[in-house]
Amino acid sequence: MTDLAAYAADRGIKYFMISYTDLFGGQRAKLVPAQAIAGMQQDGAGFAGFATWLDLTPAHPDMLAVPDASAVIQLPWKPEVAWLPADCVMEGEAVAQAPRNVLRRLVAEAAAQGLRVKTGIEAEFFLLSPEGTAISDAADTADKPCYDQQAVMRRYDVIAEICDYMLDLGWGPYQNDHEDANGQFEMNWDYADALVTADRHSFFKFMVKSVAEKHGLRATFMPKPFAGLTGNGCHAHVSVWDAEGRVNAFADPSKELGLSGQGRSFLGGIMTHAEGLAAITNPTVNSYKRINAPRTTSGATWAPNAVTWTGNNRTHMVRVPGPGRFELRLPDGAANPYLLQAAIIAAGLSGLASGADPGPCRDIDMYAEGHLVTDAPRLPLNLLDALRAFDADEGLKAMLGPDFSASYIRMKMQEWTDFTAHFTDWERRTTLDI
Ligand code: ADP
Ligand code: MG
Ligand code: MG
Repeated sequence: MTDLAAYAADRGIKYFMISYTDLFGGQRAKLVPAQAIAGMQQDGAGFAGFATWLDLTPAHPDMLAVPDASAVIQLPWKPEVAWLPADCVMEGEAVAQAPRNVLRRLVAEAAAQGLRVKTGIEAEFFLLSPEGTAISDAADTADKPCYDQQAVMRRYDVIAEICDYMLDLGWGPYQNDHEDANGQFEMNWDYADALVTADRHSFFKFMVKSVAEKHGLRATFMPKPFAGLTGNGCHAHVSVWDAEGRVNAFADPSKELGLSGQGRSFLGGIMTHAEGLAAITNPTVNSYKRINAPRTTSGATWAPNAVTWTGNNRTHMVRVPGPGRFELRLPDGAANPYLLQAAIIAAGLSGLASGADPGPCRDIDMYAEGHLVTDAPRLPLNLLDALRAFDADEGLKAMLGPDFSASYIRMKMQEWTDFTAHFTDWERRTTLDI
């Protein structure tokens, strides 16, 4: 096990950032001087849990965030600080609804079945002006800006700095591009075990925001920051391997699209639970302006509106881009990094257990012909629909854990209620003269 005091002495680290992620994806941290880390490595850092989104009250005892020393990352842009993802503990017990605990439990459940889930994510983001109201590059105005060479070079300083850091961290980054919306970018790195990917996803968001701020900009992962422009997706690529991580259990060249029977059942679980899953993969009010969206100026929504799957075709909720894996295109930039992975494993394992059938592989253009598909469920139209679908999905709730599911639905319903209490200009405009 990594001895954090020795790690600090070795690398000149002055502070550790002990960090946990709450139910709404907020990253909460304490900065702990290296001199005090030995005790904290053992016992954890104390937090008043109710002050964050964890469905706790002020009457609950203090919560301890116990760092996972094996996942420590020295901040490449501030090497005197090291980030430590932590697991929430209260009175000696794991806090059941804390997202990293939820994921660890599901990873352990897969391991108990001799399985290792490996995932890669594509966390798109926009670079904005510091106020967050407009994209940062006034010259980035093309109607079809995807892969725009000139525009990506105008943000070279930010993108290359982040990619250099990922190279140093050994994540295996392999490409960076300007995405389909003006001001939007994507950076890709190699897939890994689900917990590693979740920690990297959290750290990536922290790093992108930090480097953007350093350059006088603001980064956002908000699902649909601008009407009319493509939103921020967070596609997840998924495969399941044997316990040693050597043999891909999803790969079978003799089967349709190279997807094994196990792969089909796991995917069947995703398809069966998709409507409830959306409450986690698309967790905000704004998320539903990305899925079900009208076409953007670029001509595509890049986001699904129905529960369908296909081969190498980007108009469906799930795509099988090549043998041995599938891509879930539903999640957006607001998805909690830990709950995203947990929800995929929960739905997938339930599909494996029941031998779920993913339904027909459809080889059609869903943007052009989607309205002709009458035998596939539609994705939820708003957060309330999604929360109700999740609440009605007893199987998914049980797999994700009854305590977590109850806490999540309670907190998110409260968010929905806050939203509906908010008056909009649209209401006034359409109702004033009625
Ligand atoms: P695209 O834009 O075509 O959807 P990207 O190259 O942007 O694809 O992202 C692909 C992601 O899938 C990367 O994170 C990659 O490491 C990951 N990936 C590739 N193979 C697998 C696999 N077998 N299992 C899980 N993830 C994978
Ligand atoms: Mg991509
Ligand atoms: Mg993709």
